[in-house]
Amino acid sequence: MSRSFARVPAPVNAHSHAFHRILRGRTHQGAPGGAGNFWSWRGQMYHAAAGLTPASYEQLATAVFAEMVVSGWSAVGEFHYVHHDVDGAPYAGAAEHGMELALARAAQAAGIRLVLLDSCYLQGGLAASGTVLELNETQKRFSDGDAARWLERHGRLAAALAAVDAGEGLVGLGAAIHSVRAVPPAALEHIAAGLDPALPLHVHLSEQPAENEACQAAYGLSPTGLLERAGLLTARLSAVHATHLSGADIAALGAAGAGIVMCPSTEADLGDGIGPARELADAGAVIALGSDQHAVLDPYLEQRALEHGARLRSGERGCFSPTELSAAARTGGLRSLGLGENEDYLKVRTDSVRTAGSRAAQLPLTATAADITEVHINGQLVARDGIHFRLGDPAGLYAAFFKANPEFS
Ligand SMILES: [Zn+2]
Repeated sequence: MSRSFARVPAPVNAHSHAFHRILRGRTHQGAPGGAGNFWSWRGQMYHAAAGLTPASYEQLATAVFAEMVVSGWSAVGEFHYVHHDVDGAPYAGAAEHGMELALARAAQAAGIRLVLLDSCYLQGGLAASGTVLELNETQKRFSDGDAARWLERHGRLAAALAAVDAGEGLVGLGAAIHSVRAVPPAALEHIAAGLDPALPLHVHLSEQPAENEACQAAYGLSPTGLLERAGLLTARLSAVHATHLSGADIAALGAAGAGIVMCPSTEADLGDGIGPARELADAGAVIALGSDQHAVLDPYLEQRALEHGARLRSGERGCFSPTELSAAARTGGLRSLGLGENEDYLKVRTDSVRTAGSRAAQLPLTATAADITEVHINGQLVARDGIHFRLGDPAGLYAAFFKANPEFS
């Protein structure tokens, strides 16, 4: 029987923390306090981060990026903050960028485009009262001490990544501010003044009401207002999540033409809430999509969940047209990561049990990653029918990772 296909521009995953994949299927019950909420989940996430080394992270990230590729994601914005050794001391000398180069090598092995969004992370958070919290033992791995030292290390990182990329053009550097919880106002201003304005800049924004309340208590502003005051609300900024916003926040992000990276599967998994994606797009912001913690890796499910969330929020169907959903998965992501147009594409079955009879333009409402038969990135056929051309079945890569690193099993 001959198959029928649609050729689809390949999606771009604008928000990833590769190591969060360890938590898939482990956080739903049995933890102290039950399945808990975002904050108890965060404790489990820190436990996973505590044990990573450059070698184990390269092996894990290779599997995660291979899973992304076979699932149809052609590029990834890796929001990276596990910078230093397990005791918090910077890796020294030639090993300085060990964790960052591990991610770059993993991306190269998987054949995915990587924009490494190296993240500034300086303090442990904000208490409800607005008091600044000290870094905990795990968070010490994330911090460079102050914004100036983060900028210095960030400046050296570009050349180190270029050496790994070796002219292939798959690996590049962007920047991130972890959140207003982790980076204080003076450091935000330092970054606004000192960071190359051509680089994409990402920030976690208002994922939880508690962040808004603590930010208000500490600084008398919303997180969006604080970024605006620091001069960071521009078109190169991408706000990740943007779940709990005021009308003024939405207007400010829209007027700036900021990117908004919605992570619908993660926001549902963590009980974050449903962000005002339609309102943000109407105000002038540009929607992109990310898989964040990788509870699932499927660009079609993220597109569908973006629309479903908007429907559940508004009581209306068709909040985003199928064309807008495709754009969020593709051009919104390219813009958010500072990537130019390219020819990356997927071949998607239009005759499967899920897609038979669908209008081609409406595949975002019917297909899943299981319908993707070919993934073409940078002129190469990288994956076919769930199997990576060089690395094989990503499930085997995960099995090897968990076997070699029993501390994560
Ligand atoms: Zn995130």
